[in-house]
Amino acid sequence: MARTVLLVEDEAAIADTVVYALQGEGYTTRWVQLGREALAALRDAPFDFVILDVGLPDISGFEVCKAIRRESDIPILFLTARSEEIDRVVGLEIGGDDYVAKPFSPRELVARVKAILKRVEPTPPSGIPWELDESRARIRYHGQTLNLTRTEYRILKTLLGQPERIYSREQLMERAWESPESSFDRAVDTHIKTLRAKLRAVAPDDEPIRTHHGLGYSLRP
Ligand code: CA
Repeated sequence: MARTVLLVEDEAAIADTVVYALQGEGYTTRWVQLGREALAALRDAPFDFVILDVGLPDISGFEVCKAIRRESDIPILFLTARSEEIDRVVGLEIGGDDYVAKPFSPRELVARVKAILKRVEPTPPSGIPWELDESRARIRYHGQTLNLTRTEYRILKTLLGQPERIYSREQLMERAWESPESSFDRAVDTHIKTLRAKLRAVAPDDEPIRTHHGLGYSLRP
C-alpha cells in the first residue's frame, strides 16, 4: 500500500522537486504551504509521514511539530534552511525524527524518509521464522532453538546468509566443513536430510530448504 506523505514547504521550487522524488518512489504526496494548512490536513486525512519546513510564513515548523506531537507520533522530518546546531537540536528535542539541511538532494531526502519509516515500522517478526545467534552458534526456527551438529549449523547459516541463492554442494562444503577435501558430495545430502528432519519436527508444513536438481540447495526467502 502506498505511503502518504504530507509536505509542508512554502517554496514551490523545493516542494516540486521533493514531490517529484517521492512520487518516483511510489509515495502519495500532499503539499501545503502553511503551518495551519498542515494541521488542518492532518485532522482531515490519515498520513504516514510529515516533511516539515522550519521556516514557514505563518507559524514556525517547530510550533507545527509541537502541535502535531500533542496528538500524534507520526514521523516528522524537518527541512532546515540553516544547518546550525541549534535547529537540529531543537527539532529533535521537540519530537522530530530527523532533519535535512537545505540545500539537499531529493534522493537523499527520500532515503531518509525510507529509513525512518523502516525504523518506526519494523517488519513483524512472525514473517521471518529464523533467528541466528552467531555468538553462541545457535539458530532458532519458529521460536525453537534447533539442536544442530556443527556442520548442520554451518550449512544452515550459509543458506540463511542469502535466501534464494542456490549453493552447489561444493560451495556448501567449502563453507561448512573444516577440511572439505576429505568429504564427498553425498555428505552434503546426508546433512541436508538430517537438517530437514529437524526443521520438520519444529514446523511440519514448512519446507524451507529447496533442492535444485543438479545445482544444489537454497533457502526459501
Ligand atoms: Ca521556508
